[in-house]
Amino acid sequence: MTVRKNVADLLTEGAQRLGTRRASETSATAALDAALLLAHALATTRARLLACAEAPVACADVRRYQVLLERRAGGEPLAYLTGRREFWSLDLAVTPDVLIPRPETELLVERALALQGSAAASVADLGTGSGAVALALASERPQWRIVATDLSAAALAVARGNAARLGLEVEFRHGDWFAPLADERFDLLVSNPPYVASDDAALGALACEPRAALTPGADALQSLRTLAQGAPRHLLSRGWLLLEHGADQGAQVRQALVLAGFGYVRSHRDLAGHERMTEGQHGQI
Ligand code: GLN
Repeated sequence: MTVRKNVADLLTEGAQRLGTRRASETSATAALDAALLLAHALATTRARLLACAEAPVACADVRRYQVLLERRAGGEPLAYLTGRREFWSLDLAVTPDVLIPRPETELLVERALALQGSAAASVADLGTGSGAVALALASERPQWRIVATDLSAAALAVARGNAARLGLEVEFRHGDWFAPLADERFDLLVSNPPYVASDDAALGALACEPRAALTPGADALQSLRTLAQGAPRHLLSRGWLLLEHGADQGAQVRQALVLAGFGYVRSHRDLAGHERMTEGQHGQI
């Protein structure tokens, strides 16, 4: 007779499976990843799982879990396996069509909220991906008019789905950077563009994510410069441009903003202490 495995057995097995793949990268999160994957396979939450550690698990569910474990062990990001990632306390759906939202991108949201206060405002999020930044702003400032653009129609479908599920109001438009804005001007322009050079070894570890969301090509600063140069024509007087960038790109992005005529140009550090975003005000030299 085969003995049915229970939740606790499967969690232990899963943590071992993930803990032994590339020790440096996953061992710290192996137990957590295993629990999240088992919860996903059983269509439940981690909290409910942990509350019924002795419960036997059906064979079909065990198999589903084992497939997820193998994919995770092969390097697929957890967020693509569960189809979910939390950003700014919002539960976002993510697929391989969108970059997985990173915690450091919350800095863009924080600065946008701080610079604009709570008055009515218009905002455009350029290259919105999953919609993370635009939706976080919509959740905090329902009185703002928020437009979000992306070159990828597949990404926009994910973002639209997130807006609908969360009941948040964002106007999504398809096209390259400023093109979908026509000649409209905004109080705030925000963007987390691709900023990793195409020959950067770091891209190897990000191979499951859309390449176009990560790298603009050989010149890591290309999209950031395009955004800095194009922004003045889409900002109202005293409007702000906020750009996320790589940890070592602060000085170059500040220079691009100054060259484009921005004032009050300054960078902010993420929680890891890296310069992660730069802002500047239009018409304030
Ligand atoms: N922050 C991401 C990473 O390096 C890159 C995101 C981006 O290029 N916008 O993992």
